[in-house]
Amino acid sequence: MRQTLVAGNWKLNGSKETTKQLLEGILGGMGNVKNTEVAVCPPYIYIPQVAEQLRGSQVAWGGQNMCAQESGAYTGEISVQMLKEYGCKYVIIGHSERRAIYSESDQDIAEKFVAAIDSGLIPILCVGELLEQREADETENVIAKQINAVLSVAGIEKFAHSVIAYEPVWAIGTGKTATPQQAQDVHKFIRGMLQKENAEVAQNIQILYGGSVKSDNAKELFAKTDIDGGLIGGASLTADSFLGICTAAN
Ligand code: PEP
Repeated sequence: MRQTLVAGNWKLNGSKETTKQLLEGILGGMGNVKNTEVAVCPPYIYIPQVAEQLRGSQVAWGGQNMCAQESGAYTGEISVQMLKEYGCKYVIIGHSERRAIYSESDQDIAEKFVAAIDSGLIPILCVGELLEQREADETENVIAKQINAVLSVAGIEKFAHSVIAYEPVWAIGTGKTATPQQAQDVHKFIRGMLQKENAEVAQNIQILYGGSVKSDNAKELFAKTDIDGGLIGGASLTADSFLGICTAAN
């Protein structure tokens, strides 16, 4: 039986004060959330503050991105060790916004995935198709290419220390959620791909769904066999909606 996980991706949002208030709200409602793992991924600059506030609680934290290099002339980047130094457990890798806006390639993403795992951080590897790819019936090909790019560099064993998030790009921040069945079909496809490499890894890996998850659609999504929780953008920015999703995964 896989543990569910709900992770909040705060993206480029918040201030010192709103971060403090949001975490107070989340911590205040965690008493009802006993059976799911919960994490938040704030902007880098708030990670020390978040670590301070969450230390000792049941809520973990992580980065939204990282550099595959350990150190050196990489202006604007953050290393795995820096994230680890501030207690991060997770790091989001290959979010569609990183792929589209910052031109991250499958190769870049595979290198980050390996670097994270080699340093003991759990990557949340994001994959997902564009609307035109879904409409052209290319969803499985796109997902297979994204997963295979990482598999061929990392090897299946490393997936035992990772989480995958299926995030159809057309559902991110649009209010258009994949139907539970559409999501389940892709989650099953991903697990099936991993199954061919290593049945145990495939059985144990958490595969999250992301894309306009809200407290009122979360339960139906999370009820599907291969959906093990969610990666949450907009709805992770208010305590009530985030807690509603955590409770649905409970
Ligand atoms: C995301 O960006 O990872 C995401 C799922 O966003 P939203 O929940 O706002 O669609």
